[in-house]
Amino acid sequence: MEVLTQEIQLKNTSIRLFIKREDLIHPFISGNKFRKLKYNLIQAKEENHSTLVTFGGAFSNHIAATAYAGKENGFKTIGIIRGEELESKIADNPTLLFARECGMKFVFVTRENYKIKDSSDFLSQLRYDFGDFYLIPEGGTNNQAIKGCEEILNDDDVKYDYVCCSVGTGGTISGIINKSIIEQNILGFPSLKGDFLQKDICKFATKQNWKLITDYHFGGYGKVSDELILFINVFFKKYKIPLDPIYTGKMVFGVIDLINKNYFPEDSKILLIHTGGIQGVQGMNNKLINKNLETIKFDV
Ligand SMILES: *Cc1c(COP(=O)(O)O)cnc(C)c1O
Repeated sequence: MEVLTQEIQLKNTSIRLFIKREDLIHPFISGNKFRKLKYNLIQAKEENHSTLVTFGGAFSNHIAATAYAGKENGFKTIGIIRGEELESKIADNPTLLFARECGMKFVFVTRENYKIKDSSDFLSQLRYDFGDFYLIPEGGTNNQAIKGCEEILNDDDVKYDYVCCSVGTGGTISGIINKSIIEQNILGFPSLKGDFLQKDICKFATKQNWKLITDYHFGGYGKVSDELILFINVFFKKYKIPLDPIYTGKMVFGVIDLINKNYFPEDSKILLIHTGGIQGVQGMNNKLINKNLETIKFDV
């Protein structure tokens, strides 16, 4: 799959910035979630499974992607959703509406039960309720997913000095690290707080040419500020490239801030990976409207 790479024109710097448009792989499905599902779907088919089970929060790109991919590939899908209160609010939730239209069945669980979702008791109960299934972990990260994410970079991309991507569970960056060459620097921008990611990435990554930049989570997963929303809107006006507020907006904000702070050496070539996530914009805007805050605007 060949994906468009565009240059982002910067002023007053010798640095050249490029963006790989994985978001264009599909209008609803995050580019990296598509990559992460590819080999999982192949394995599920090989093992003759008819049902996929996975987990996610209210606006999960992974839930939307699994629901769609299941429909396209003839699997039943079951989404274990974090937060019992969401059951009565499906109609207000664009992600869950989309997943339901794709045929996904939901099991809404409390935050306490969600924490034990990987336990054997919880999984036995699911098998009792739904029969046999192929299990895809939260965020879709497993060995098959890393293999899919290794296909994000192609041989031509060795010309970039830096490759930057957003980090949720660390699967995407692990694939990028494995495909990169050791002369390249891979920078990950976590979209959430916490120091567990370093360990998770070490489990999958085969090289040490990477670093996490932890200053751009904007308060944690799903948290945004007026400054971030304004940045996303200005970026769209200038470059006509939409960014999502959960992942790619924070990463691109961080990279441009670091360029302004002279973090990168002169003449560096930087590649940003646009991992997608645009399906989540509407859900975020609904929340922002409820709080009387500035919304994300891609129609100007
Ligand atoms: C899930 C997601 C990420 C994070 O990917 P991980 O492999 O979990 O680190 C980044 N960007 C977007 C748009 C995503 O949906």
